[in-house]
Amino acid sequence: MLNERGQREVFCGLTGIIWLHRKMQDAFFLIIGSRTCAHLMQSAAGVMIFAEPRFGTAIIGERDLAGLADAHEELDRVASEVLACRPNIRTLFLVGSCPSEVIKLDLERAAQRLNQRWHPQVKVLNYSGSGIETTFTQGEDACLQALVPHLPLSAKAPAQLLVVGTVADVVEDQFSQLFKSMGLNNVAFFPPRRSAELPAIGPGTRFVLAQPFLSDTARALQAMGMECISAPFPLGVQGTTGWLKAIAHSFGIDEQRVESVIAAPKARALKALEAHRAALANKRIFFFPDSQLEIPLACFVHHELGMTLTEVGTPYLNRQLMAHDLARLPANTTLSEGQDVDKQLQRCQQAEPDLVVCGLGLANPLEAQGVATKWSIELVFSPIHGYEQAGDLAALFHRPLKRRQLIGQRKGELAWN
Ligand code: SF4
Repeated sequence: MLNERGQREVFCGLTGIIWLHRKMQDAFFLIIGSRTCAHLMQSAAGVMIFAEPRFGTAIIGERDLAGLADAHEELDRVASEVLACRPNIRTLFLVGSCPSEVIKLDLERAAQRLNQRWHPQVKVLNYSGSGIETTFTQGEDACLQALVPHLPLSAKAPAQLLVVGTVADVVEDQFSQLFKSMGLNNVAFFPPRRSAELPAIGPGTRFVLAQPFLSDTARALQAMGMECISAPFPLGVQGTTGWLKAIAHSFGIDEQRVESVIAAPKARALKALEAHRAALANKRIFFFPDSQLEIPLACFVHHELGMTLTEVGTPYLNRQLMAHDLARLPANTTLSEGQDVDKQLQRCQQAEPDLVVCGLGLANPLEAQGVATKWSIELVFSPIHGYEQAGDLAALFHRPLKRRQLIGQRKGELAWN
């Protein structure tokens, strides 16, 4: 196991706004940032979303401490303008960033002030999406952690199970159906589709993570007395089966019932993987640390697609939350935590992988050197959880290799002509 603390190549936590604002359709994300933050969001989100965005950037210019009072006034003015134009917004997130002029602002106080003005029509919360201390998926962790204290407590009909982590609506519907068939009728998803309808929790509520990058949220839920169901992450057939069985076991649901509920979707998923497995078996894959999904994904590509793991990098390793997936990694896997990008690039070169999973910043230079890459951020944007998505998840790894093959063929044809 390598531990590295050198230069990192990762996006910042603001990126999470792209999938969070798609999920919570009555929430607005106001980034308090610089022009760089605005450009990042415009370019990262602009090419990937087609609905009207519910996020924006209040650009805070260079100011000394004496100018902070004006900055607060300006922030209140912008926030009020946003809310006045959008009467459907129920939660406003003030999202902090890393420029020094923003760090000087007390966004918690700003949120309290705005709450006095807008409550009960709008709840105003704050969290940090700063690039100084986060990987890009930690933006979601910070956002959900800010929501946890607002989960309503109910003694009457609290959720039995809280599924924690943003999943696509289609995945949520599929999981809900499976839970119902298993006999779990009162299951809630967090974050919900509407931020104003946060799920009620109670003394018996247990939670399970659907995403591996939610350590702080998990800690906050446990601090409220909720039990965390320890499970692998629901990626691919094996991960999904392990996840569902861990939940069923926690609620005392009979294993045979679970097997009969999952039989059909599991068979469909195995069939969907066949063609990809034939093409990907024995291909070598290298994971750079970026999304924190690397370890469960490595388990999927190795056990279900037959790929050889050269190195599996993760930005942070929470051994407790990752225990099941860590145990599934082959014993000889090179695992690295953190990053020293130059050294890691050298190791990657020596490993000669067929496919590299990495952030956008590394993908283009590697492609230029003839290495096939997969953007790790695409694995967070795409619906990849559960049985019905297993084939699509495999296709995300297969596509870059197919593309390389086609380019090679095309070059060969041109050479002949
Ligand atoms: S939060 Fe920091 S890292 Fe992220 S876009 Fe803004 S300036 Fe860049």
